[in-house]
Amino acid sequence: MLIVMGAHATAEDVARICKKIEDLGFKPHPMPGASRTAIGLTGNPGPVEPGFFENMPGVVELIEVTHPYKLVSRELKPDNTTVVVGDVVIGGQDIVVMAGPCAVETEEQTLRIAEKVRAKGAHIYRGGAFKPRTSPYSFHGLGLKGLKILAKARDCTGMPIVTEAIDGESLEMVEEYADIIQIGARNMQNFSLLRSAGRARKPVLLKRGMSATLDDLLLAAEYIMSEGNYQVILCERGIRTFADHTRNTLDLSIIPAVKRISHLPILVDPSHGTGKRHKVAPLSRAAIAVGADGLIIEVHDQPENALSDGPQALLPETFGDLMEEIQMLAPVVKRSMTRVHTKAVR
Ligand code: PEP
Ligand code: MN
Repeated sequence: MLIVMGAHATAEDVARICKKIEDLGFKPHPMPGASRTAIGLTGNPGPVEPGFFENMPGVVELIEVTHPYKLVSRELKPDNTTVVVGDVVIGGQDIVVMAGPCAVETEEQTLRIAEKVRAKGAHIYRGGAFKPRTSPYSFHGLGLKGLKILAKARDCTGMPIVTEAIDGESLEMVEEYADIIQIGARNMQNFSLLRSAGRARKPVLLKRGMSATLDDLLLAAEYIMSEGNYQVILCERGIRTFADHTRNTLDLSIIPAVKRISHLPILVDPSHGTGKRHKVAPLSRAAIAVGADGLIIEVHDQPENALSDGPQALLPETFGDLMEEIQMLAPVVKRSMTRVHTKAVR
C-alpha cells in the first residue's frame, strides 16, 4: 500500500503515519517528492486494512500497489531520483560517465589511467578490486590492497570511486573505501548481499543479471531499498542471447521501459554489453539517445597487457573522442554533459 499525503501535510502528520505503520509491525518508507510525500509500507504479508489510515490527518489517498515492487515504482515517487556523489549528480539533467579499467592491477596502472580518463572529462572512476571471474584460475583482483589504491586515485584526481563488492566481507570494505558500491551481474539475485547493501550508507550501482527480466532487476533494487537504502542506480550491461557476434546482447529497450515505471536512474555499460572495443562507441551513443542517465565504460591504456577484459577496453584517446560526441549528442535528447576536469590534482 502507498499512503499519499496532501501538499499541506506537516512533518508531524508524516511521522504519525510512520509510527502507526511501525505499531502494526511493518516498515514505513517516506518518500518526499516535489509536490507531495508518499509513504510506502513493506513487511506486510497481505493487503493492509485501509481503515487504519484513511482518516488520519494529512492523508489524501491510499493506493493498493498492483506490481510486485513498490519502492522502486513511480506510483510511490513520481519524480526522478537523483543520486549525489561528491560534486556528481546521477539521474539529473547531466549525463554522467564512469570510466576506468576493468581491474585494479597495480598502483601505477590505476593512477596512470585515472589521470588519463579524468583529463578526458570522466566524472567517476571505476576499477575492480574484487573480480568475480568465470574461471577460478583467472585474476581475481587485489582485494583490500586494490581498494586502497582506488582511494589514492580519488585523492589524486578528485574523482569519486565505484567498485564491486562480491560478498558480505568485501561489501564492508568497499563501503569504507569507495563512494559507490557496485553489485555485479552475477550477484544481482544474491539476496543476502542485496539486503546487506540495503543497510550500507553508500549508493549502490546494481547491474542487471545476464538472464534477468525487467521485473527481476526492479525486484533486486526493491531488496536494497526495502532495507532503507534508497540511493540505487540501475545498470543495463547486456544479456545472454543466441547472438554470437557480441559477448552479450545490449538490451537498450530496457531504458525507456524502466523510465516508464521506475524513478531510479539507469546507466548503460556498453563494454560488458558488447565485449568488443569497436562496438563500444556506437552503443554508447545509442544509449544516450534512448535516454540513459549515463555510461560506465572500461578504458585501458595498454589493453593488450590488461589482466581482464582487454578486448573491450577503449584507449584513452578513443574515450576522449566519445566524450566529445556525447557532449554534442546530449542536447538532442534535452540533456547536457559537463566534461569536468574535476578538482585540480591535490
Ligand atoms: C564489471 O563491471 O567489472 C563487471 C564485472 O561487470 P558485470 O557484473 O556486468 O559482468
Ligand atoms: Mn570487466
